[in-house]
Amino acid sequence: MKSNQAPFLAQAPDPPRLAGARFAGFACLASLAATGVAWVGARAESVAAPLVVFPLALGLVLAGLLSVAAWMCRVAHYRAVVCTAVLAGLLTAVAHHAWSYREAVARARRMQIKVEAEAARQAGRRGQAVIGIGELLVEQPESLWEFLQSEARRGRPLWGWHARGVWAWLWWGIDALLIAGAAGWGVARFATLPYCNHCGSWYRTVRAGRLAPAESARIAAGLGLEAAELAGSVQVRMMSCVGGCGPVLLIIHARPSRRVWRMWVSQPAAGQLAGMADRDC
Ligand SMILES: [Zn+2]
Repeated sequence: MKSNQAPFLAQAPDPPRLAGARFAGFACLASLAATGVAWVGARAESVAAPLVVFPLALGLVLAGLLSVAAWMCRVAHYRAVVCTAVLAGLLTAVAHHAWSYREAVARARRMQIKVEAEAARQAGRRGQAVIGIGELLVEQPESLWEFLQSEARRGRPLWGWHARGVWAWLWWGIDALLIAGAAGWGVARFATLPYCNHCGSWYRTVRAGRLAPAESARIAAGLGLEAAELAGSVQVRMMSCVGGCGPVLLIIHARPSRRVWRMWVSQPAAGQLAGMADRDC
């Protein structure tokens, strides 16, 4: 990339490598996060669960947790992070039904105890022997599959209509896709941040400022741009890894044309550019 026409430019760093052990740790944390978000979702659902917004909110919360998990495990590989987030989103949807099933079983058991106590109280008042204890007085779902089938038969309120049977299943599928999509979209914001394989750190802003107009032509020449493209107010931001191992990411924002350039520049060139920019941070 570096040439006589653009002496400031440098080769982009290698894309993030994927280490098996770190990814395994990330996948474990992603499973825990998905199960936890599903648990919160199953409880929050009884309070309020607006259509579309609720699964999107669950997906975004999951994305936030997965971004933290990826940062903790130092997993920066874009496809690995996004695919794991999508799978975790689908797991959240399944786990959400599993938690609802457990809650339905627990509710049925509480009801059973209540009904048994009431039957015993009534029998005692009539001076009769207590019978029926141990009998199943309240029906409870035998399995997750049976629970889902009964929920599908009961239907789901959907904008004044009840989605029953296959429509309920279809809507659950859409919910799962919304959670997975929001989770994938959310972590993609994090996974596109540049990462340094050498020191194992993400790039962060080390310098930001406004370019002096007098310097624009010189900088444009160094970057292989036309001087006219950097005319007027130009904002620059430089990002580097913690160790300063490789090239620096330069982000240029030309205000009049609203154009944005993202370029890799060498360390010496970054030093020169930093000297030309008015410091903002
Ligand atoms: Zn580094």
